[in-house]
Amino acid sequence: MKRAHAAARFLLVSILLFTLIVTALAQRPASRPAPAYPAALVTELRQLQQAALASDYAYTQVAHLCNNIGPRLSGSPQAAQAVDYVAAELRRLGLQVQLERVMAPHWVRGVETGELVEFKGQAPNTTQKIILTALGGSTATAAEGVTADVVVVNNFEALRSLGRERVAGKIVLFNAAYDKQMAAQGFAFDAYGQAVVYRGNGASEAARLGAVASLVRSVGSADYRLPHTGALRYAEDAPRIPAGAVTAEDADLMAYLAAQGRLRMHLTLTPQTLADVESYNVVADLKGSEHPEQVVIVSGHLDSWDLGTGAIDDASGVAVAMQVANLFKQLKLRPKRTLRVIAWMNEENGLRGGVAYAKDFAAQLTNHVAAIESDSGPGHPTGLSGHAGDAAIEMLRPLAQILLSQGAGVLRQTKDAEGADVSPLDAAGVPTFAPVQDVRHYFDYHHTAADTLDKVNPRELAENAAVVAALAYAIASLPDALPR
Ligand SMILES: [Zn+2]
Repeated sequence: MKRAHAAARFLLVSILLFTLIVTALAQRPASRPAPAYPAALVTELRQLQQAALASDYAYTQVAHLCNNIGPRLSGSPQAAQAVDYVAAELRRLGLQVQLERVMAPHWVRGVETGELVEFKGQAPNTTQKIILTALGGSTATAAEGVTADVVVVNNFEALRSLGRERVAGKIVLFNAAYDKQMAAQGFAFDAYGQAVVYRGNGASEAARLGAVASLVRSVGSADYRLPHTGALRYAEDAPRIPAGAVTAEDADLMAYLAAQGRLRMHLTLTPQTLADVESYNVVADLKGSEHPEQVVIVSGHLDSWDLGTGAIDDASGVAVAMQVANLFKQLKLRPKRTLRVIAWMNEENGLRGGVAYAKDFAAQLTNHVAAIESDSGPGHPTGLSGHAGDAAIEMLRPLAQILLSQGAGVLRQTKDAEGADVSPLDAAGVPTFAPVQDVRHYFDYHHTAADTLDKVNPRELAENAAVVAALAYAIASLPDALPR
């Protein structure tokens, strides 16, 4: 009887316990709690973070790339010099360096001038100078330039509504303003995205209606009468007409005068597209101790536009990637998985490097655990973002907690590839990551002559190196590979 009573009580307790467990499981949030990192890993991540914040190595690399080497447009002697320099430096750090061949486009800027030669209220024998620059890949006008009437439109719809008859033989100006308020509120890349379609597609849209040249209002946020260059894309089905970017101030001037009556412009652009040049991605490995076949990429792009020296776009990204390797060596940290530093070639006007890598390493991409790229300038980082699955993001939560100590605790899941060069890897299923940064002023200088070393704040660059180094080390050292 006593025994029977004990058995009944045991059954009752068992049912109660089972019910409790089931209820607890049902109430558990969909995402699992972040797994704790091994204590040794937490210590190493804090060491890396502190060492990065105390180091000027990344800044020294940006300075060399910008000041000693200079602008690094694809196909230029400086781009070649930068490849040699970064490869030699990564070899010096003890990495296994390979140069991956990339056939790079070779476009060179020529004369670029503009004058308004006829407009309402004009003083005799005067013109108004227009400050402009050719868009990357643009064809040339005749050497003596072209003189034509200007039509100003705010968008593609307005252009199409004019029809061929009012566009043929003219110079079209796309006067779509970069949304500064949007940028000021932290959405600079959204503001850029809305305006940059005219830089990319404007020339072909105008050419389809018979325009002789196409101009775009510079895509950028600062009012220092700076023209912002950048690549255009000629459509297969449209004539290739010369294209440039005028400063925001000059776009306003042209729109003002065009609204008053006939506006004629003399435009000279004489860039040239030369034969492709053999160039390289620099690919440098620090082999993993346990899973050398598993790869974690840290990267930036080595090429830049030619107007400035490419300090924020993207010597900073390359320098941060180099600094990751430097810190691992300095602290004698060897992760389980392979750290692969890549300095990409030709992000700006072709993406040939990123495309070549995804093709050349296609057979190994299932073993690419993550690809990190820094290509949004060196502004203060507030955390990191990834185009990765829920489980992968959750695995990085303890890292975000560590980075919170430097004000970089944001962990954001995004919908798109975290960088142009890593986008072919992203398309192949590789999780991609980037630091989340203060980009409110990035487009002040982006693709202008003012993208120079002074725009890099050494402290903020070091903060970026700390975020990227800790991210790369965590992914390369966690017991389990980041899930896809
Ligand atoms: Zn860039």
